[in-house]
Amino acid sequence: MRRDEAGKWPCSGIFKSCSPRQTYTGVMFSLPAPFRPLSTALATAALLCLLAHPASARAWGNGGHRMINRLAVTSLPADVPAFLRAPEAIAEIEYLGPEPDRWRSPAEPELSAAQAPEHFIDLELAEALGALPHRRLDFEASVYASGQRPEKIGLQPWEATEVWERLKAAMREYRALAARHQETRPAEQAVIFYAGWLGHYVGDGSQPLHTTIQYNGWVGANPHGYTTGHQIHWQFEGPFVEANIGEPDVRAAMTPLQPIHGDLFDAYVAYLHRSKSFVETVYQLEKAGGFMGAGTPESRRFTAQRLAAGASMLRDMIYAAWQESAEPVAGP
Ligand SMILES: [Zn+2]
Ligand SMILES: [Zn+2]
Repeated sequence: MRRDEAGKWPCSGIFKSCSPRQTYTGVMFSLPAPFRPLSTALATAALLCLLAHPASARAWGNGGHRMINRLAVTSLPADVPAFLRAPEAIAEIEYLGPEPDRWRSPAEPELSAAQAPEHFIDLELAEALGALPHRRLDFEASVYASGQRPEKIGLQPWEATEVWERLKAAMREYRALAARHQETRPAEQAVIFYAGWLGHYVGDGSQPLHTTIQYNGWVGANPHGYTTGHQIHWQFEGPFVEANIGEPDVRAAMTPLQPIHGDLFDAYVAYLHRSKSFVETVYQLEKAGGFMGAGTPESRRFTAQRLAAGASMLRDMIYAAWQESAEPVAGP
C-alpha cells in the first residue's frame, strides 16, 4: 500500500514528497483543514502528483496484495478447519487483500483519514519515543505528548495486532459453536473476513519502505547517492511487481511454517524490523536500474522474497490465531 497512507502531503517544496501515500483520485483537493489556506499552491502541486501517479496506484499494488493473501491461505497446514481452505474462502481472502485500499475514497473522508496511518510506521520516529507500547492508545498518548501526531508516524503494528486479535476471537467463537453442535457458518464468515483484512497489513509490513522515514526518496545524509526523487516507492511496489513477479516465484521463496512463540505484538515488531533492514537494499537496487522495465535478476529475486515474507508471516499469524483460540480465557 502506498504511503498515501500517511497524510504526509507530497509534491511541492512545502511538503515532504510526491508520495505514494496519496490517493490519486482527486482526493488531494479535499485537503485536511490545516492545509486549506494553501489551496492554490497545493492544487498545483497536487495536479503534478496526479500526473505522476496513476489513480489505480496501490501499495504492493492490487496484484501483490492479492498474491500475498492467496499464498498464505493456500499454504495453511491441514489442521486448520476445512472451511478456511475451501475454494470460496480462498477466493474471498484473496479479494480482501487490497480491501483497506478501498477505504481511501474521498466519498468516505472520515474513514480515509482515520485508517491512513495504519498502513505504515516510521520506526525511526516511533522508537525515538521509547520501546513501542503494546496498546495503540498508549502510543498515541506518547506521540501527542512529544508534540507530534500519530498520522505522521504511523500505526502499523497496532492495527495488525488488533485485527489478528479479532481473528482469534472469531475463531474462539467458531470453536464454541462447533463444540455445542450449533451452526458455525456465521462465525466462519467472520473468520474469513478477518483473515483477509489482516493480510493487507501484514503485506504492507513486508514492504521495507513502509517501515521508515526513507519511504519515498532518501532524506538526510546521502553518502551513497541514493535517489531523492519521489518515484521509488510506487515504482518498486506497483508497476514493477505487476509486470515482473509471478506467483510461482513468490511461492518458491516462502519459508516453511514457523510457529509464533510468545507475544504476537513483539513478534510482529520483529517482523517489521526485518523488513526495515532491507531499506538500503531497495535504494541500491533502484540505483542500479532494478525497478525499471524487467529489472535485474537481483531485483526480481529480492522483490519475490519480500512478497514471500509477507505471505509466510500471514500464514504463520493465521495459524497462531487458530492455535491460541483454543486456549481458555483467563478471568479479568
Ligand atoms: Zn496498505
Ligand atoms: Zn506503499
